[in-house]
Amino acid sequence: MTRRTLLIGAGAGFVGVLLASCTPEPVPTPTRTPSPSPQPTGDTIVPLAFARSAWTTDPFSLGAASFTPVGVQKSVRGSLAQPVVDRVFFAGEATDDEQSGTLEAALRSGRRAAAEVRDASGPGERIAVIGAGLAGAAAVSILAGTDREVTVFEARERVGGRIMSHVDEKEWPFPAQLGGWLHSAQDAEWIEQLNSLGIRSAVLASSAWRSREGVVDPVSTETVASAVVTAQELPSDVSLAQALSDAGSDLEDPALAALLAAVAAAAGADADELSSWFPPSLPAAEPIAPLADLDAVVRDLLGDVRVSLSSPIARIVYDDAGVSLAMATGESLSFDRVIVTAPLGVLQSEGIEFSPALPFGHRGAIAALGMGRIETVWLRFEEPLVESEAEIWHVVGGDALIRTWMNLAPATGEAVLVGVVGGAAAEEFAALDDDGVLEAAIASLAPFMQADAPG
Ligand SMILES: Cc1cc2nc3c(=O)[nH]c(=O)nc-3n(C[C@H](O)[C@H](O)[C@H](O)COP(=O)(O)OP(=O)(O)OC[C@H]3O[C@@H](n4cnc5c(N)ncnc54)[C@H](O)[C@@H]3O)c2cc1C
Repeated sequence: MTRRTLLIGAGAGFVGVLLASCTPEPVPTPTRTPSPSPQPTGDTIVPLAFARSAWTTDPFSLGAASFTPVGVQKSVRGSLAQPVVDRVFFAGEATDDEQSGTLEAALRSGRRAAAEVRDASGPGERIAVIGAGLAGAAAVSILAGTDREVTVFEARERVGGRIMSHVDEKEWPFPAQLGGWLHSAQDAEWIEQLNSLGIRSAVLASSAWRSREGVVDPVSTETVASAVVTAQELPSDVSLAQALSDAGSDLEDPALAALLAAVAAAAGADADELSSWFPPSLPAAEPIAPLADLDAVVRDLLGDVRVSLSSPIARIVYDDAGVSLAMATGESLSFDRVIVTAPLGVLQSEGIEFSPALPFGHRGAIAALGMGRIETVWLRFEEPLVESEAEIWHVVGGDALIRTWMNLAPATGEAVLVGVVGGAAAEEFAALDDDGVLEAAIASLAPFMQADAPG
C-alpha cells in the first residue's frame, strides 16, 4: 500500500488530503476496488471509501456508450438493428435510434428484439441470448413466457453488463454505481422497472459553478441547443464544437468548457467528435439518481432463465436453418436463433466473429458509429468536504481532469461525491491507477474546497 499526503492551497489556509490506495497498476476492467483504510484525522481529510471504473479498457465493453459521430446518420442504428436471415437478431443500446447510450435504450432494444424473435419463431425453439446486460435481460423477460427454450451466454462472471452496482454495506450507505444509473423523468420504461422493485431515488435539482477565483456564472445548455438548431440548417453535418464556434461561442471560455465536459460525461464523446445534426441528449437539468442495487433490476428481468456466466462467445455461424455459437473454449452449441447484445465496442473490435460476414448495412453501421468513453469515481468522506446545498458541481478553469461532480450529501445526508468524466479525459482517467484517480479527483475538487476554506 502506498500512502501520500497532498496539500491543496485553499485561500489563506491549506486543506490537507491524505490519499491512500491499494492498487499500484492500471486496472484492466471496472473494479470494485477495496476502499482505503480510514486513517487518523486531524488536519487531514480522509476518504473512507473509494471506487472507480475503467470501462474504456474493459474487454467486454471497450467503451461506455455509443454516440453518433459527426457526418454519420443516426439511421445507421436501424441498419444495425435489422435481423439477418431471421436467425441473428441485434439488441443493445447502440441499436436504438432515439435514446442510444442510455438504460432506457437498452431496455427498449431488448424488448424490440424479443418481439422480433417471437414473431419469427415457433414454440419449442431454442433461442440463445448473448449478453446478460439490461438489453439481454429485457429480451429474456419477454421470451421466458413464450414456450421458447432460452439460454443466456454472458462473458463476465456477473450479470448487469454496463450496470454495475458496488454493494458493500460496511463501506457505502447505498451502492456505488460504477456504470449507468442516472435517468430523467422521461425514461418511462426504466422508471417502471425501478418502481416495480420499490427502488428509491434522489432528484439532483441544483447546481453550482466554481473556478479557483470563486463563483462563476453558469452557461446554459440553451447555448448548445441553439447552436445545434442553426447547424441543422446547414447542407452538411458539422461537429458540435464547430456549431458552437459558428454561433459565436468561444470554445476557450472556461465555463463553456465545463459545460462541454458535462456533455462529454453524459455522451462519452467530446464536442469535436459529436454530430450536430444528431446531437446527444444534453445533460438533464434534474437528473434522478437511484440509491439501490441496480443489478437487481437485471436479475429480476432474467428471472429463473439459465445464465451461463464466464462464457464469452467468440464466433457465430449462421444460415437460414439455424445458428451455431462457438465459445472461446472451442465448444460449439446449436440454436434456432440468437439475439446479440454485445456492446458496439466489442463488435467494432471483432470480439465476436460472424460467418458468413454480416451484411454491408450492419458492417457499415458498426464501423460508422462511435463508442464513447465515460468513467466515474465515487468517494465517501466522514463529513462533507464542503458545506454546499448544490447537488451538481461544475469545476471551471484550471487543469482539473474531472469537471462534473454529483454531491449526494444534500439528498441523502451522506458525504458521498461522484465524479464523472467523458471523452478524451475518460481515456486519461482509465489509464490511471487508483492512486492517480484519487489524486486527480481531490485536485479537481480544489475550487469547491477553496470556496469553503476559512480566510
Ligand atoms: C460509466 C458509465 C456511466 C453511464 N451512465 C449512464 C447514465 O447515467 N444513464 C444512462 O441511461 N446510461 C448510462 N450509461 C449507459 C448504460 O449503462 C448503457 O447504455 C446500458 O447499460 C447498456 O446496456 P446493454 O444491455 O445494451 O449493454 P451491456 O450492459 O454492455 O450488456 C452487454 C453484455 O454483453 C456481454 N458480452 C460482451 N461480449 C460478449 C461475448 N463475446 N460473449 C458473451 N457476452 C458478451 C457483456 O459482458 C455485457 O454483460 C453509462 C455507462 C457507463 C459505462
